[in-house]
Amino acid sequence: MSAGVSPHDRSRVRSLLNEEKADLERSIRGTRSELEAVLEARADGSADDEHDPEGSTLSTDWSRLQGLRRSFAERLGETEEAIARLDAGTYGTCAHCGRKIAAARLEARPVAALCIDCARELQG
Ligand SMILES: [Zn+2]
Repeated sequence: MSAGVSPHDRSRVRSLLNEEKADLERSIRGTRSELEAVLEARADGSADDEHDPEGSTLSTDWSRLQGLRRSFAERLGETEEAIARLDAGTYGTCAHCGRKIAAARLEARPVAALCIDCARELQG
């Protein structure tokens, strides 16, 4: 028996991915307005990172928010790619070796594009 992704699973995965996508887009918007707030706060004061203790807090916030936004954006990209694979009918097939990705792996990581073997090989 092949353990392919059934139509029922596909629609379940699709709604899960759509929810994830909406969540990530919300998070990215939230992070963006926080970044804007930091920018404004910086513009307000005569923020000198070297001497102003508040200024250096702002740059810490800035890097933290940038990092957050980057990781949200990466996850959003993965989620969109997974949705595109669902549309293309290639979801659940390893992008590297073309074998089926184990159902347990997809359960744990619905955006997985690689089977566990290729993921280990390519990502170390
Ligand atoms: Zn593979």
